[in-house]
Amino acid sequence: MLGFLKDRHRKRLKARPFSNEWLKIIKRNVAFFVRLAAADQAELLDHIQVFLAEKSFEGCAGQEITDEVRVTIAAQACLLLLHRKTDYFPRLLTILVYPTTYLADEQRPITAEIWEEGKHARLGETQRQMGSMVLAWDAVESGAADPSDGKNVVLHEFAHQLDFENLAADGTPALATRQQQLVWREVMRTEFASLRAADQTGIPTLLDTYGATNAAEFFAVAVEAFFERPLRLRSQHPRLYAQLQQYFRQDPVDFSAERIRASS
Ligand SMILES: [Zn+2]
Repeated sequence: MLGFLKDRHRKRLKARPFSNEWLKIIKRNVAFFVRLAAADQAELLDHIQVFLAEKSFEGCAGQEITDEVRVTIAAQACLLLLHRKTDYFPRLLTILVYPTTYLADEQRPITAEIWEEGKHARLGETQRQMGSMVLAWDAVESGAADPSDGKNVVLHEFAHQLDFENLAADGTPALATRQQQLVWREVMRTEFASLRAADQTGIPTLLDTYGATNAAEFFAVAVEAFFERPLRLRSQHPRLYAQLQQYFRQDPVDFSAERIRASS
């Protein structure tokens, strides 16, 4: 019954007319949006209405929470929800936004629950148990503005949230069947091992070597590459690409801004 009420409420939220101001913000800030197919744009806007109604935002260290902040974050996060049955990152309640890399000159204890992004200079973090996420606004903005540099802190942190949906931070999101889980684990294990080996020997990699930290970071980094560098990911890591394509039910090659120079 609760699920039924929730679905009905979400349906109503989606039926509301989408704010013109919000649409302007998305077109201005979120570069991938105009490259999406019209049906996907419409689906994304529906998801944004639900997302913004359900998640709360809190500004930290003087960061103001404006519609621009909320909508720019929501538009990127909701890209991960297209074409799939979704419960809108159910474990996440609050998004804390700092103006800039928020731990840079601050030492604070990191508890066992906090999912800290070490090498990423603390652009973001998310927690499995506490229902919150921290993002640095400058990193959110730059990630949204460049859709093909392989870096997107919002996609990265929300990928962790997808990973948490089945209650384990193990780099495996909720998959429909046991068979899918087995194939997923085998592909991820192999790809993770090869990234670790490349990281240790200093071989250049398409995937950010931060993904060599552990299986959960590997998944988050792979999601960034999947959406930002799909052409190269598909050609260099076809099995990884296929797993992500199957899970997300999307082929980002279709809307990618990625340009591959003939020499690379
Ligand atoms: Zn991470």
